[in-house]
Order: sequence, then C-alpha cells, then structure tokens
Amino acid sequence: MDGPIRRVGIIGAGTMGAGIAAQVANAGVPVVLLDLVPDGSGNRNALAEGAIGRLLKADPAAFMHDAAARLIEAGNLDDDLGKLADCDWIIEAVVERADVKRALYRRLEGVRRLGSAISSNTSTIALKVLTEGMGEAFRRDFLITHFFNPPRYMRLLEIVSGSDTAARTVAAAAEFADVALGKSIVRCADSPGFIANRLGIYWLQSALVEAIDQGLTVEEADAVIGPPMGIPKTGVFGLMDLVGIDLGPQVNASMRAVLPKSDAFHQVDRDVPLIGRMIEQGLTGRKGKGGFYRLDRSDGGRRRLAIDLATGAYRPEQKPVLAELDAAGRDLRMLLSAPGRIGTYAFRVLAQTIAYAATLIPEAAGSIADIDTAMRLGYNWRWGPFELADRLGSDWLVEQLAARALAVPKLLADAAGARFYRLEGGRRQYLGTDGGYHDIERATGVLLLEDIKLAADPVLRNGSAALWDIGDGVACFEFTSKSNALDQHSIELLGQAIEVVGARFKALVIYNEAGNFSLGFNLGLALFAANIAAWGEIEKSIAAGQRAYKALKYAPFPVVAAPAGMALGGGCEIVLHADAVQAHAETYLGLVECGVGLIPGWGGCGEMLARWRADPKLPLGPMPAVAKVFEAVSSADVSKSAQQAMEKKFLRPGDGISMNRDRLLADAKQRALSMVDGYAPPRPPEFALPGRSGQAGLASAAQGFHRRGLATRHDLVVAEALAEVLCGGDADIIDTISEQQLLDLERSAFMRLARTNLTLARIEHTLETGRPLRN
Ligand code: NAD
Repeated sequence: MDGPIRRVGIIGAGTMGAGIAAQVANAGVPVVLLDLVPDGSGNRNALAEGAIGRLLKADPAAFMHDAAARLIEAGNLDDDLGKLADCDWIIEAVVERADVKRALYRRLEGVRRLGSAISSNTSTIALKVLTEGMGEAFRRDFLITHFFNPPRYMRLLEIVSGSDTAARTVAAAAEFADVALGKSIVRCADSPGFIANRLGIYWLQSALVEAIDQGLTVEEADAVIGPPMGIPKTGVFGLMDLVGIDLGPQVNASMRAVLPKSDAFHQVDRDVPLIGRMIEQGLTGRKGKGGFYRLDRSDGGRRRLAIDLATGAYRPEQKPVLAELDAAGRDLRMLLSAPGRIGTYAFRVLAQTIAYAATLIPEAAGSIADIDTAMRLGYNWRWGPFELADRLGSDWLVEQLAARALAVPKLLADAAGARFYRLEGGRRQYLGTDGGYHDIERATGVLLLEDIKLAADPVLRNGSAALWDIGDGVACFEFTSKSNALDQHSIELLGQAIEVVGARFKALVIYNEAGNFSLGFNLGLALFAANIAAWGEIEKSIAAGQRAYKALKYAPFPVVAAPAGMALGGGCEIVLHADAVQAHAETYLGLVECGVGLIPGWGGCGEMLARWRADPKLPLGPMPAVAKVFEAVSSADVSKSAQQAMEKKFLRPGDGISMNRDRLLADAKQRALSMVDGYAPPRPPEFALPGRSGQAGLASAAQGFHRRGLATRHDLVVAEALAEVLCGGDADIIDTISEQQLLDLERSAFMRLARTNLTLARIEHTLETGRPLRN
C-alpha cells in the first residue's frame, strides 16, 4: 500500500458489497461497484445498478444522504475491470466460495495497480486458503476485512493479515476503515469464523439445543439469554429470525468441517429437526414466511405468534413470567444459581459460552479484550464474555463448571480468584495470557469520557449532569439522567458549569457516551407538574432553560456541542445554541415538540429562524425563512444522519462530522481549542418577522393539511401557536423584534399549549375511565 485511500473498488454487489459501497460513499469517497454480467439482460450493469436502487430504498437507510449514491459508479466485471486500476483499495465481496474468489484474484492481478490493497470480506475462508497459488506481490497486498451487516450501522471490522501481508497495507486499510468509515478494528488470527462469529455461532447453537433440552419456550429463552446478561432483547431466537434461520445449518456445517475434533463446538453441534422442517416450509425468519416468531395478520389484526419448540406449531406469544428473573434482578450469579430449568439453562449457555471464549486465545484472538470488543460491537452485547466472567467472579465460575463436570479451560482455571479487568493508576487493564495486566490502549485521536471518569472526579456533579476536565483547558458537560432527559437539575448544573468554565477553562464541549445525546425535556416531570396544576413551576423551568441556553450562547468562551444518536427537543436546542458542532455521523436531530402538542420553548424557534434567514438561496423577505422553520417544526422533522442535519440546518456548513464514535470527543475538543484564540461571542440577532399576515398564511396552509386529513384539529391549535411565535406575535406590522422578545413569545405560547393539553388529557382520562383526574 503506497498512499492514502482516495478511491475504492468493490466486487460483488450483493448484501455486503453494496452495503460497504454505501458506507464508503457516505464517507465521501468514490466507489466502483462491479458484479457479473447477468444472463439474458440487455443491461450489462443490471446487478450493480439494481444494488444501488435497493440501497436507496433500504430500511434502515444505507445512505446517510441520497446524494452519496452518486459517488458509486456501477459496472460489470467483463467491461469495467480496468476501472479498478485507479482504486487504492479493492474489496472482494462475492459468493463464499474459495475457487470463485481465487479465480477473481487472478483476473485482478492483470489490472490492479501494484501496491493497491486487496481484501476479502469472507466470513469463514482462511486467508491462507484464499492466497493459495497467488504470487508474492499479491500476498503482500492482501488481507481479510470482515464487515458486519448492515455495514453502515455495525461498528465492528475484523481484520486478518497473513504472514506475507505488508504492515503498511494493513495500517492504511485499518486507518481508512477507522477514520473514514467509522469502524472499530479488531485484529484476528487466521482461524475459522475469526472472533465474533466463531463465538457467536457457538453461543447461538448452545442456546438453541439447551432450550430444547431444558424444555424452555422461545419467549423464556429470549428473556433469560437477553437483557439480564446485557444481550439485546432479541435474545437468541429473535436474533436467528433476524439473520435468517437457513443460515444456521450452513454455518454449522462449515464450522463442523474445519474445526478440529477437540473443539468444544462439536459438543453443541447437532441437527435440530425442527429447523430443517422450518426451512423446508419457507419459515426462514423475518425475510421468509415467519420464524420462531411470526406476525398473524389474519382477521386484519397483528397478533404475534411464537413457535412451540416441541411440536413446531404456532401459538399466541406469551410474555414469560419467570420468578427466577425477578428474584435475581441485576444479580447474574443468582440467576445462574437458580434451581430448576431456568437457572440450569442460564448457567449452561452463559458459563459454557464464557468457557468456549477462553479456548479461543491465542488460536483466534490475541487477548480477552479483543474477544470482548468483538462481541460488544459485532453482536451488540453490553458486556463481552470476560466482562461477564468478572461479574460472576472467575473463582465461582470455575468452581461451578467443575461441580457440574463441565470442562474448565486453562485460561479460566489460571484466572480463578483474579479479575479479568482491573483499575490501576486510573487506567483500565486486562489480564494477559502471560499472567500480567496490560493497559487497554486507545488509538491516537481516541478520547473517551469513560476513561477520564476512571482517573478523576468530576469538577461538578448533581443527579442529572456532570462537568469533567478533559485536559488542555477544555471542560466537558455531560448529561447523566435517564435517557439524558433534561430537567431542572441538568439546567441548574449547566448554569454553574458556565461560571466554572469561564473562570477555570478555555472552552467547553457538550458530550456524553450514552446511546442518545438527549431525548429533551423530561415530559414525565412536566406532566406530573401539570397534573397538580403547578403551572408556575413549569413556566419557571422553561424560563430557566431559556436563560441557561442563552448564557451558553453568549459565554465568553467557545462552546462545541458533540451529539451522537438522538438529540431531540431540548436536546436539539442545546446543540443549536453552541458556537460550533462536531456531530457523530449517526446523529438524529429534531425539534419534535409539536409531536406531543407543544412547541420548542428553549430558544429553538429563534435559532432556527436565524439560520434559515442567513441562507442566501432563499428569496428575500421575512416569510421564506418563517415558512421553512414552520414546516420543519410543525412536522416534528428529524434528520436521519448528521449529513442530513446539515441540509435541514440543525448543523451549519462549518460544523464537523466524525464517522468514528470513539473519535468524537477528541475531534470536538480539537475544534473547541481551535476557536479559543480571538474568540468573541456572537452578537444577538434581531428578527424582522411578517406579523399577522404571516400567521394568516401559515394558518391557511395548516387548514389545507387538516382538510386533506393530514392534521387533526388539535394539530391546528399547536400549528397556530407555532405560527404566532415564528411570525413575531400579534402585531399587524412588525419592524424588528429582539431575541428576548421572541423568547417571551415562545414561553407564553408554550405555556398556553401546556394548559390546553392538560385540559385535553383530563377530558381524555375522564372519558376513558369515567372518573375525573384528581390533583
Ligand atoms: P450475496 O449473495 O448477497 O452477494 C454475492 C454477490 O456476488 C452477488 O451479487 C453475485 O452476483 C456476486 N457473484 C457471484 N459470483 C460471482 C463471481 N464469480 N464473480 C463476481 N461476482 C460474483 O452475498 P453476501 O451476503 O453479500 O456475501 C458476500 C461475502 O461477504 C461472502 O464472502 C460472505 O461470506 C461475506 N459476508 C456476509 C455477511 C452477511 O451477513 N451476509 C457478513 C459478513 C461477511
């Protein structure tokens, strides 16, 4: 590999090749996507073109922005192979057959530029098999890059290099995958299924056969091998439905063929006749006619059914009532020790999966940390197997495995009494195979609040937020409440943080590491206050939020918001008040208040108006910007990526996007530092707004929606309140109004709606229950 990656070639426009092409295009890098010339089609590029068409319709979306599709050039392997000569990285994602892949590599040798990286997306074929008979130059440039499906959303990328692969080729591909594609890299040995699938296949198979042996229902199994273990609630049967039930026997067969006799996989590997029958009947999961679960649409309903593992017949889904789960709560050891079939099932699946993981070092993975990362990112587990072992206690685990006459692998036996992870000098360390502890290393450019928290106490903290020192004179404000919902405490701490940062720091970053940046104002609390008619309290919290957000905007230091995941309502408004934004590529911003019958109350209306007004492409006059904001806010529009948020003006042209979640904080901090010299807060805007005539225009548009059945009468009430704010209130002709006047309008309209909605909620409650709502 001899330079940066500026153009990528992808061969195979199936599920994976197309998905990877979309993600490369999302990174703004041009892609050539090639597939076979189809039989009997007039269009020789039909396969690759069809793939792009499918990508545009994919759900969840494959493209972060539809414009990215234009970066993919479709072609075919007969006419366009030469186009790969300009590609710096060629990714092969054709059918899983070594002979087909190798034949393709031989053709590539004639056209590719020497030094360009070539990788296979194979899930199971060893690198040494793929490179058999290939020349030295090819082997130097060849590696395996194993993406997970769907490539836009799954963060794991497993990389396997051969003994001949040039280190700089691996480094260049890894760097591009990390920084441009946003992937977290786990290096794997050249062994079957690499890390995540090797363990994942064992885990799924053991969970399947044990459920049958212990006589569990699919719902029971998914409830046990699910959230209590930090595993997504799809559990095992839900996951098999998702990935395709037909895949199971195929991957098992390939593992059976390549794994040595001594491998513990063989002990759980057995044919399950029900699976064979399901596949024959087309019951292959969500892509087929149903799976372990199925939606019954007969009689116009949507009843969920589940399969009976013993008879294969469907019956209505039953929410499992498991006393063992309730009794154990968060105590995993108690769940695994529970007497009876539930405890036995939990123990046999989890303890044996951990034990199997312990046999994969060094054969498949270099360290326990790599295995844990692979399972967290490849299977969305909250904890990897060794983190789970620490939760159980390794000595307990070893003792229990031995007591049940189950194999105890050496790595586990050696670790008995010790922890797999420990904290030392403020750093997290993992237990190596040498018996010593090693720091978990972060790549340059990766900064995590998770690590900072291990080493220091917060500068400020209350029950809903915290302020951290992230070094170099930069502070980080973190929401910490449930769903990062904003309440009086988060707003209070923000006010204090602004003072502390002004006195002791150079800049502020607003960031957190939860799944969602913030879902906005805590509506539960607001409803509670409304229930007891504490209108004054609600109005006070709206005013406090307005004050805190404006204090943030006009603070004497730069503020950078660094959202990831959902940033909605008040969570979006704080982003709008920052001087700059560094957003993760997967950020979903929106002012969604109208969806719950309210309007933005913390300055969102004014901030959005100012942004649209500054757009030179809009026609002159006050109305175009007002109409744009009205449309976005009244429809509770949410951006489906950070790129889309630019177009919707939740982000501004100079704002940055980080593809890799782990790089977001460091990127935001860098951006904040770059703004420190000569920083001056913005000047408060003034608004020229269209007044009553504007309101009349917007009201008639809303009436039109109502007539077409797209808006309820209640929506009209909300839309009118929004129009009143955006048009600058009730005057006939407005010259200009100040930012503060607009905030006052926002607050009073918000309060009016809050009262209306409470009245509606009370009437609804009375109608539903026949009893009035008591204060
Ligand atoms: P797919 O069947 O969806 O697509 C394969 C593509 O390869 C098709 O478009 C086909 O036309 C093309 N093709 C077939 N023969 C070819 C040939 N001789 N030359 C060129 N192209 C040819 O398969 P997929 O699921 O995208 O898998 C592709 C690769 O990725 C496989 O190696 C698979 O093991 C691996 N993989 C798949 C997944 C997954 O979840 N599907 C995940 C990780 C890795």
